[in-house]
Amino acid sequence: MSQLELRSLVKRFGATAAVDEVSLSVPEGEFVCLLGPSGCGKTTLLRLVAGLEEPDSGSLLLDGTDITGLPAHRRGFGMVFQSLALFPHMTVAQNIAYALSIRGASKADQRRRVEELLRLVQLPDLAGRQLGQLSGGQRQRVAIARALAVDPRLFLLDEPMSALDAKLREALQLELRLLQRRLGVTTLLVTHDQLEAMTMADRIVVMDGGRVQQVGSPLEIYRRPASVFVADFIGASNLLEGRARGEGRIELPGGTITVPDAPASGAVTLCVRPESLRLVAADKGAENGGAAGDGLSGEVVFVRDVGQTVETHVDCAGQRVIAVAVPDSVSDGGAPFAQGAAVRVEVPAAGCRVFPA
Ligand code: ATP
Repeated sequence: MSQLELRSLVKRFGATAAVDEVSLSVPEGEFVCLLGPSGCGKTTLLRLVAGLEEPDSGSLLLDGTDITGLPAHRRGFGMVFQSLALFPHMTVAQNIAYALSIRGASKADQRRRVEELLRLVQLPDLAGRQLGQLSGGQRQRVAIARALAVDPRLFLLDEPMSALDAKLREALQLELRLLQRRLGVTTLLVTHDQLEAMTMADRIVVMDGGRVQQVGSPLEIYRRPASVFVADFIGASNLLEGRARGEGRIELPGGTITVPDAPASGAVTLCVRPESLRLVAADKGAENGGAAGDGLSGEVVFVRDVGQTVETHVDCAGQRVIAVAVPDSVSDGGAPFAQGAAVRVEVPAAGCRVFPA
């Protein structure tokens, strides 16, 4: 268990700043997910922490000690990569015990530790199996056990579940999260999957273009995105172009709404989650927290009813707005609105973020 600090890390590849002035403090025992689109620099940042890349500038501190120049094998970190990088010619037990044997642990200690780790990752009976005889999910657990064998000071994972199917991935995300909590090991995980990050992280670091765009708890990032980029990348968002007209009023295609902390003037982008919106028949009044008369008028152009949720696409004077609701709350507990229905989209101020365009 360790506390990690990154100070203004920079890593360039030719003209590309893969990691550009990244500073971050990770308290002991925290689970941090590095999240961002392909090429945003998350893998490079993880490799800098691991010691597999050398920064051009900046420093890394572990428990207050500068480890910037320390070679990877002397950092004492556990790593799991997308490829898992297991030894195919060894058994499960030999894979897990590898780092222990290099460190000169006795055979009895190795056996005891392997048994303990296999119980931890819920593969108690597979010590003697060859790797080729394992499923993808089992191999992934072996890779985790191997990385944890030496009680790592930091646990680093790079898209470890991306090769697994969706259901197994979800189950393993939960398992890994519970395991990490139990062990209290400070963990950094790279992913481009926002749901994965939201499932596991204490804090998410959203990256783009080598830079940190926002750091926060999953819910902070979801509810209070710091930029249009973050709002768009995390979850589904309606991004509506409008103009600020003073006193919180924003003119949008189809109507005007009021958001108290909106800029006084200029072009703005309003971000609002589909589940924050409420649809009412066009002839009904505003009831959802907006000022009287607030809301957008539009016409339903598409309804996607998947049973669990109903997604209604509304054309508001040429701008597409998507509202999502659970079936019973759609259209006053009745059936979803039909295509062609005239509706009013109620936009509660509390669900809105407004950015200068
Ligand atoms: P992905 O999700 O696709 O793996 P990423 O967010 O992990 O992407 P990185 O692999 O860190 O991104 O790459 C960041 C940038 O640095 C990209 O523009 C990439 O092309 C570049 N890059 C990474 N490694 C190297 C390298 N060894 N040589 C040259 N350029 C590199």
